[in-house]
Amino acid sequence: MRVVVLGAGIIGTSTAWHLLQRGHDVVLVDRQPDAALETSFANAAQISVSYCEPWANRQAPLKALKWMFDKQAPLLWRPQWDPAQWRWLLQFLGQCTDRAFERNVAQLVSLGAFSHATLKQMVAETGIEYQRSERGIAHVYTDAKAFEEAAGAAELMRRHGVQRRVVSREELLRLEPALAFSQQPIVGGTYTASDEHGDAREFTQALARRCAQRGAELLFGHDVERLEVAGGAVHGVQVRARDDGRVRTLQGDAYVVACGSYTTPLLATVGLRVPIYPGKGYSATLALREPARAPQVSLLDDGRKIAISRLGERLRVAGTIELGGFDLRLDTPVAQARCRMLLQRIEELFPGAADTRPPEQGGDPQFWCGLRPATPTNIPLIGRLPLQRLWINAGHGTLGWTHGAGSGRALAELLSGERPAVAMDFVGIDTGGGRPRRAQPASATA
Ligand SMILES: Cc1cc2nc3c(=O)[nH]c(=O)nc-3n(C[C@H](O)[C@H](O)[C@H](O)COP(=O)(O)OP(=O)(O)OC[C@H]3O[C@@H](n4cnc5c(N)ncnc54)[C@H](O)[C@@H]3O)c2cc1C
Repeated sequence: MRVVVLGAGIIGTSTAWHLLQRGHDVVLVDRQPDAALETSFANAAQISVSYCEPWANRQAPLKALKWMFDKQAPLLWRPQWDPAQWRWLLQFLGQCTDRAFERNVAQLVSLGAFSHATLKQMVAETGIEYQRSERGIAHVYTDAKAFEEAAGAAELMRRHGVQRRVVSREELLRLEPALAFSQQPIVGGTYTASDEHGDAREFTQALARRCAQRGAELLFGHDVERLEVAGGAVHGVQVRARDDGRVRTLQGDAYVVACGSYTTPLLATVGLRVPIYPGKGYSATLALREPARAPQVSLLDDGRKIAISRLGERLRVAGTIELGGFDLRLDTPVAQARCRMLLQRIEELFPGAADTRPPEQGGDPQFWCGLRPATPTNIPLIGRLPLQRLWINAGHGTLGWTHGAGSGRALAELLSGERPAVAMDFVGIDTGGGRPRRAQPASATA
C-alpha cells in the first residue's frame, strides 16, 4: 500500500517507520524543514510509563478554578470565545471522577508498556542515539502533606502492574545525591527504576533519516491545505510548498493524520470533529555550570508540577499547561511568568547547578513552548476515521514521547490488518468481541 502520513512529529515519524517495516510505501509530509520542530521539539524528555496519571481527576475542577488567576499555576484555563474549548472542557469535566480516572490510567499504562518495549526494540534495530539515560524517574515532594498522599498514588499504579514505590528522604538522596543541595525541604518521593529519559527531537529527526534510507519520501516544507473527499472517501491531499508556493495533490491508498493539535482544524475541513485541544506548555534548556550539582535521575517536582531531565551537558526543565487556544507566543505576561518560574525552581532545587540567569542578566536560557494535543482523557486517538482510507494518530497530550513508538506501531499494525497487543480502545475499530469496546468521549464523530 502507498500511505501518506501527515505530520512528522514523534507520532507521524514513528508511524512512517512502522509502516515501512511492514512493507508499505510511505510519503511523510510536514510544513517544517525537518521532523520534530513543533511539539516534539523540546519537551521534558521523560519516557514515563509509570507517571501517566491524566490531568482529569476528582480534584482537578476545584484546583483549576483556584488557579485561574495565578499566572504560574500548573494548570491555567484561559476562557476563549471558542465553542471547541467549551466542548472540550465539558468532556474533561466528565472525566473528573474516580471511575473514569482508573479506567483512563489502565489504558495509559497499557499503551505505555507496549510503547516502551517498542522503543527499546527500535533503538536496538537502528542504533539511534538521543542522550538516553536509563536511571528511572523519581517524583520529589517538598510538602509533607502531599507526600502522605503519594502512597495511595503508588498503590494505584502497582495495581496496574507498575513498580512505583515510595522512598524515604534518605533513599531519595541516595538515588539522586544532587537533591542534597536543595534549598527546599525534601521530604521524600516515589521512584520507578524502569522509566527513562532522552531527547525526543534528536530521536525523531534521526528516525526520519532512517525512514528516508528505507525508501520513504520526506516531503518537508509543505503545508497540508486540504483533504480531497468524494463519495465518503479521501482521494488525495492537497499540499503547498512553502518556498515556491507550488500546489500538488498527493495520492495514496491510505492517509494518516498525525498533525498534533492541528489535527482538529484539518479534520474540521471535511466535517469531522475530534476532541483534541491545544494545551500549551513551556520548557527552558540550560547550560550546566556545576555538573556535580545537577540531577542525573529524571525528576518530577510535585511542588510546581514540572519535570527536570539532564540531557548531557544541558538541563531541561519543563511543564505547566495552559488551555487558551493556538497561541505560541513567549512574550506575553503569562508566558514570561511561567518561564521565570521554571528558572526560579531550578535555582531553589539545584542552586548553582545550571546557568539560570535570564537573558537581561547575560544568561542564555533556551525558552520554548509547544501545544500538547490534549484529549479530555489523555488517551490518544489511534485508528480509523469515518471516511474511507482516512486514519488518525493524534491526541497524545502530555505523553506523546512516552507513547510515540507504540502508537506508531499500533497504527501501522491496524492499517495492515493486524491486532496490536495493547489493551486499549482504538477509534473506529471493532475489537472482535475479545474485549468490550468502551464508549469514549475521545472517539471521533462525524
Ligand atoms: C512542555 C512540554 C513537556 C512535555 N514533556 C513530555 C514528556 O516528558 N514526556 C512525554 O511523553 N511527552 C511530553 N510532552 C508531550 C509530547 O511532547 C507531545 O505529546 C508530542 O510531541 C506530540 O507529538 P505529535 O507528533 O502528535 O505532535 P507534533 O510534534 O506537534 O507533530 C505534528 C506535526 O504536524 C505538522 N503539521 C501540523 N499541521 C500541519 C499542516 N497543516 N501541514 C503540514 N504539517 C502540519 C507540524 O509541523 C508537526 O511537525 C510534553 C509536551 C510539552 C509541551
